[in-house]
Amino acid sequence: MLELTIEQISMGQTAVDKSAALQLLADKLVADGLVAEGYLSGLQAREAQGSTFLGQGIAIPHGTPETRELVFTTGVRLLQFPEGVDWGDGQMVYLAIGIAAKSDEHLRLLQLLTRALGETDLGEALRRASSAEALLKLLQGAPQELALDAQMIGLGVSADDFEELVWRGARLLRQADCVSNGFAAVLQQVDALPLGDGLWWLHSEQTVKRPGLAFVTPDKPMRYLGQPLSGLFCLASLGEAHQALLERLCALLIAGRGHELGSATSRRAVLEVLGGELPADWPSARIPLANAHGLHARPAKVLAQLAKSFEGEIRVRIVDGQDSAVSAKSLSKLLSLGARRGQVLEFVAEPNIANDALPALLAAVEAGLGEEVEPLPALAEAVPGVAEIATVLTAPAAGSLVQAIAASPGIAIGPAHIQVLQTFDYPLRGESSVVERERLQKALSEVRKDIEGLITRSQSKAIREIFITHQEMLDDPELTDEVDSRLKQGESAEAAWMSVIEAAARQQESLQDALLAERAADLRDIGRRVLAQLCGVETPAEPDQPYVLVMDEVGPSDVARLDPARVAGILTARGGATAHSAIVARALGIPALVGAGEAVLLLAPGTELLIDGQRGRLHVSPDADALQRATQERDSREQRLLAASAQRHELAVTQDGHAVEVFANIGESKGVATAVEQGAEGIGLLRTELIFMAHSQVPDEATQEAEYRRVLDGLAGRPLVVRTLDVGGDKPLPYWPIEKEENPFLGVRGIRLTLQRPQIMESQLRALLRSADNRPLRIMFPMVGSVAEWRAARDMTERLRLEIPVADLQLGIMIEVPSAALLAPVLAREVDFFSVGTNDLTQYTLAIDRGHPTLSAQADGLHPAVLQLIDITVRAAHAHGKWVGVCGELAADPLAVPVLVGLGVDELSVSARSIPEVKARVRELSMDRLKTLAAEALSVGSPDEVRALVEAL
Ligand code: PEP
Ligand code: MG
Repeated sequence: MLELTIEQISMGQTAVDKSAALQLLADKLVADGLVAEGYLSGLQAREAQGSTFLGQGIAIPHGTPETRELVFTTGVRLLQFPEGVDWGDGQMVYLAIGIAAKSDEHLRLLQLLTRALGETDLGEALRRASSAEALLKLLQGAPQELALDAQMIGLGVSADDFEELVWRGARLLRQADCVSNGFAAVLQQVDALPLGDGLWWLHSEQTVKRPGLAFVTPDKPMRYLGQPLSGLFCLASLGEAHQALLERLCALLIAGRGHELGSATSRRAVLEVLGGELPADWPSARIPLANAHGLHARPAKVLAQLAKSFEGEIRVRIVDGQDSAVSAKSLSKLLSLGARRGQVLEFVAEPNIANDALPALLAAVEAGLGEEVEPLPALAEAVPGVAEIATVLTAPAAGSLVQAIAASPGIAIGPAHIQVLQTFDYPLRGESSVVERERLQKALSEVRKDIEGLITRSQSKAIREIFITHQEMLDDPELTDEVDSRLKQGESAEAAWMSVIEAAARQQESLQDALLAERAADLRDIGRRVLAQLCGVETPAEPDQPYVLVMDEVGPSDVARLDPARVAGILTARGGATAHSAIVARALGIPALVGAGEAVLLLAPGTELLIDGQRGRLHVSPDADALQRATQERDSREQRLLAASAQRHELAVTQDGHAVEVFANIGESKGVATAVEQGAEGIGLLRTELIFMAHSQVPDEATQEAEYRRVLDGLAGRPLVVRTLDVGGDKPLPYWPIEKEENPFLGVRGIRLTLQRPQIMESQLRALLRSADNRPLRIMFPMVGSVAEWRAARDMTERLRLEIPVADLQLGIMIEVPSAALLAPVLAREVDFFSVGTNDLTQYTLAIDRGHPTLSAQADGLHPAVLQLIDITVRAAHAHGKWVGVCGELAADPLAVPVLVGLGVDELSVSARSIPEVKARVRELSMDRLKTLAAEALSVGSPDEVRALVEAL
């Protein structure tokens, strides 16, 4: 990313003209290794297309797309020309910022610069700057405007006390990106200042990113420190930005008009009084931006010039962006938007020019603003999660058999209930605010009725609670206020409703709070229900009998919400067997097939489906024979499971006397009771990150100790294998910000992360050691890829163990990274055990993302390459008298159990529900035969061949 630093600045340069200045810049960029020789031609060609003069004495020369290949590293170099260089048309440049960029990274730089560009006389100051530090300060330190718009005013917000009101104010500032997380806590420490008339004032500079003011009023009369409280100002203070507002406010209070704020019922009224940014009540129009590199200098210039040709104000913003609208006539302001391809621009124009200006602006943006543009993909492609169904696809015919990925065993028969996200087409502008409001009210009340029905019908308390939350959301006054003000601006009910819902959902997601982030999905859910009503699109009713749910892709929380009594089976177009949703389906015992292809989404609702979760097969409208065979098989499977269940507390011993331990995987202390009840001989994997995720902040040592104790208590002397915190990458903890990574699966996750935060790791280890009370405790570290990582984790544990002795402790590692498996002969000398995490080991060995929507079907743990790594691990461990477990999903696959046991794996750790079946499977086998099977499996080249060997057993 481009940032400005003093090292990039060369002061006191001279150039007789623009071409000499470009030559100087090119030399500098080449000398510093940013570009190859020849980049000068790119700089010149770009200037020939249009001057890069930005205003305020600054130019930003950069290359053309053709010279991008000459860029080695993205970067900038700044040359100060105190005597100035004529950049054409008499425009004097005192600072040339040469950009070497491979793509559109320079937009970020332009955003940075725009603050400075808004300042008057900056050119003169840049010319006179005597040091690189001073120059940088000028570029970065220009005062920012105070953010104050309708989004930052909350009237009649629900709050029970002063603290809650402060929290609401701070939240508005956070949502406007004025402050970082934690500003609410900062404000709680500050003494509030009574302004009179029931108004209070709080401010702080801590954690402020840009100056902003929020104003909130409570929904009921309130008092604070013995005085009335009718409104609270929360200022994120930075420099002098709030000065003008403060003066205005003082004048208002002196004039005795303070009460107008506390009793205001419209945000517009508050903004009028305070002088904030008024939402323009002007016609608007929207259009997506298609320019490949976004709204960079050249197209922005074309846009600004066109806007300037109209006599009246035109403003533009990014729909769903955080920034408020800017003048479309200002090049620097346009650049400050940082608009990218695919983002939707919304123009508003003064009513007297709107009829001419808006169509002209839309046409210009559509034509590419002087650039050739590739049309944007259709909405269905652009919106993630919306299934794009190609017209050539047809639904699988009656009687056909579709091979999919077996994700959760069992046979399910039932009518198809298709849940595909529909695309809705609706006008952006409405008839009149009265008509649109009425339509919306009607849709809301229909949806309310539907939800009431769902609440009454639902058997499960958890599901009822979800729908009750949905009802509350529908009635949320903040949402309806916001929608109302959009309706007044002429938007259609659909457009107003959806933009408010989407903005609210995004705000929730940005709050770094797991629970609030989950609400985003609920908001979108409810948003779509209302939209469907408004557009008159019928959502298919749930069949009365248990059905097969057909979806594009299903998230773990979708599965967790399902009522197993109503959903007989799950069929998805995309997804893989080790995706977390498949894990949840298995835990709930719902047969599931994933990755069946998009054609299944075209099945007619109600089509009879038969899914075989064992073999991964889908039968569409099966004939009577197929149904009968499947029913028989289902019944006999049920019989088998019943028999297995009757023996679930007995050991799993092969026919020739080889015992295999069968343990359980759990993610919360509550799970231990079911595990033991299902016959677990111990817990083979406690996923402690799930315990951390269930809290809204890092659970302290005592809380963790209590949780681990509960598991050990429940195990009554059976061993517990705990995995230390495995977060990072794709599993971030909401309250633990981790830098965004290009490739999170290959980034800072598992042990890499916890070793970087030793205090959290130490506190977890202490809690674990304390909870042990000499009961059998095994601790393992996730994602270990090197001997050094293992030793660092072991040394930390051993050091703590001196403080907190534990008699029966073993330390081991998970084998999830191929390097760890290959190093097993070295590691086996030092560890007490290995536990193979086949989910990750498979994804890293085969280089296939375990959740990849289309490839994960091939991420098959029975791939001989994965089996080779397990073989190396087991051999190494046994050579040193250590044991090996498998705790990935493969351990529960009835076809994999014979291979794993044949390879010599000592323990299989599976979800509680699978224990009886896995034990029964082991009892059917003979170790002698399995050893041969394993050797054969290691000698073939594909997972299919391995499966064939097992089937032939
Ligand atoms: C694994 O990778 O196999 C494993 C058990 O860990 P998780 O699925 O939690 O990543
Ligand atoms: Mg893993």
